[in-house]
Amino acid sequence: MDLNTPASELHLVGPAFVKRIKKLEIETVRDLIAYFPFRYDDYSLVSAISRVQPGETLTIRGQLLSIKNEYTRLGKKIQKAEIADNSGKMEITWFNQPFLVKTLKTGEWYQFSGKADWFGRKIVLISPENEKIPHTTYHIPHTLHTGRLVPVYSETYGVSSKWLRARIAFVLPLIKEQLKEFLPFSILVKEKLLPYKEAIWKIHFPENRLAAQKARERLAFDELFLIQLAGLLRKSVWQTKALSRKLTIDQEKIDHFTANLPFELTEAQQRCLGEILRDLAESLPMNRLLQGDVGSGKTVVAAAAMYATYLNGLQSVLMAPTEILAQQHYQTINALLKRYGVKIALQTSTTKQCSNETMRQYNIFIGTHALIQKNVNFQNLGLVVIDEQHRFGVEQRTELVKKATTPHILTMTATPIPRTIALTLYGDLDLSVIDQAPKGRQKVKTWVVPPSKREAAYDWIRKHVKGTDEQAFIICPLIEESETLQSIKAATVEFNKLANNIFPDLRIGLLHGRLKSQEKEKIINEFRAGKLDILVSTPVVEVGIDIPRATIVMIEGADRFGLAQLHQLRGRVGRGERQSFCLLFSENKNIRSAKRLKAMEKLEIGVELAELDLKMRGPGEIYGVRQHGFPSLRLASLSDLSLIERAREAAKSIIDKIDEFSPLQEQLKKYTIQKVQPN
Ligand code: ADP
Ligand code: MG
Repeated sequence: MDLNTPASELHLVGPAFVKRIKKLEIETVRDLIAYFPFRYDDYSLVSAISRVQPGETLTIRGQLLSIKNEYTRLGKKIQKAEIADNSGKMEITWFNQPFLVKTLKTGEWYQFSGKADWFGRKIVLISPENEKIPHTTYHIPHTLHTGRLVPVYSETYGVSSKWLRARIAFVLPLIKEQLKEFLPFSILVKEKLLPYKEAIWKIHFPENRLAAQKARERLAFDELFLIQLAGLLRKSVWQTKALSRKLTIDQEKIDHFTANLPFELTEAQQRCLGEILRDLAESLPMNRLLQGDVGSGKTVVAAAAMYATYLNGLQSVLMAPTEILAQQHYQTINALLKRYGVKIALQTSTTKQCSNETMRQYNIFIGTHALIQKNVNFQNLGLVVIDEQHRFGVEQRTELVKKATTPHILTMTATPIPRTIALTLYGDLDLSVIDQAPKGRQKVKTWVVPPSKREAAYDWIRKHVKGTDEQAFIICPLIEESETLQSIKAATVEFNKLANNIFPDLRIGLLHGRLKSQEKEKIINEFRAGKLDILVSTPVVEVGIDIPRATIVMIEGADRFGLAQLHQLRGRVGRGERQSFCLLFSENKNIRSAKRLKAMEKLEIGVELAELDLKMRGPGEIYGVRQHGFPSLRLASLSDLSLIERAREAAKSIIDKIDEFSPLQEQLKKYTIQKVQPN
């Protein structure tokens, strides 16, 4: 047997169980031992029967004198047993477990672990776990389910914690010699970590709380360490690549560009632009993440970088996750750069593909992932900008990067990732943060609206948008992750209701992802030009859309969105200087979800919301960690900053010597899907 042995070959794992544990993502021995408990029941207090106190959780060890089923007055079946040790006798009661009468045998010896309590006038053990032990009171028996710290696993239908525990206990001794240490000795010593084999053993079967905690710490450290090491490695590989051409920054022209904008760049924008321009002038390829809250003005910074690239006679690409956003960028970038002679092409799945000849005539290509799907050949690519990068898988990014001899890469995100976490997840990227809103922006007033006030809310919206130059978004609920037919149908129904019954007097439009591109463009342009009062939309507008005149966003089914997503949606308004509003509707009465929404009323900064979401929903949800192909974090928490720091320091200390540690490289293989291929 080895770690790759299929679970189906294990003793007592028949076809039914194979199917069931597959739901827990257990298919091999390796998966099984990496199925960690989420808590422990502490049954380590073993007591003589005569000393049992009510209220204690404990273990007694003795001989079963009797066991029988009894009926209560209400007709329920309870099980009563009696057990004796040297010090006395006591009763045990279970509820509705009639099979115990068959499995537990009078005269045999058992350990029972559970809680002692009053039952009528007697102290009894209530519904304890049982485990058979040898006929002796002289040796302390070796047990799994009782008399110790007992691991508790998340279960699925037909797979109990007890069953999992027994299987793991069976397998561990057989494969323990294959659990080879992969961390360098120096790190183990410096960080005072348990050896790997011991950690795996003890996370399942710790002798005490401290051992469990040490095991958990070691294995959580591994997760964070490997992610960060993989990131640092990608970075070092990236930096060995030669740029096709080094850029020279024409600062005078850049200054002219910024001076002629309709607004003044914020200090934060200037600082970030400076960082980017400095990178562009290096002979190493840039790989930088530009992070900035919604509406902080990332696009114009990217435009300046593309302009600098243009001034060097090189092409740039700007990739956006949706067609609507690509179209918007096309307009924005045109408005910013056309006057400087920059030629810009829009490339989406619905536009015609340019011939190589035509491609040579353009300086900037803006598009969706069609930019990489179509066999587009860039002639002279200097810079790739990826907007809302969390929407793209790592492979897509890699694909695009492969298109050219190594370009500079600027990725942009509004996903408010706390700095430490950004450095952990994107260890290969340098980070620039626009941590300041443009002048004159006001906080978006946010209210959770109870169903009883729906009508009033509609009237209130009408008052704001009718005959004024203010506009409103109405966002339909998120039905599924992607824009399915179902969610489009729901949006259409909602639209008809609003247009015919509620706002027959207003100009109202519908936007969703399945409209033809021209239609999408037409509707967005009408809305942008103020020819519509209300835009009903599926959550496609979530990312990036910029309509400065819109002041109201009303979100249906708000509880279905994560806080970061709600923040993104809310960010569709408040992009000008006017007071804007966000109305959150939810039919969900669940208290937790109400609390999450209430947080939206108070918190205005994305990072704070993200941290709250992190606590309430876990990292995978917010940062799309799974989507990115990161191995999931089972034990480590992205809110454990000190462990993240330790793992990061450790990864840095080893990065130059990685070749000396082949077991470590073996572990890192799991992380290589994200590696940027050398070109
Ligand atoms: P995001 O960072 O969310 O992508 P955008 O780049 O779309 O934000 O910018 C949001 C809006 O703010 C746009 O209308 C843009 O023209 C405007 N804007 C950007 N920078 C500034 C600034 N320094 N002062 C005023 N308005 C700005
Ligand atoms: Mg944007």
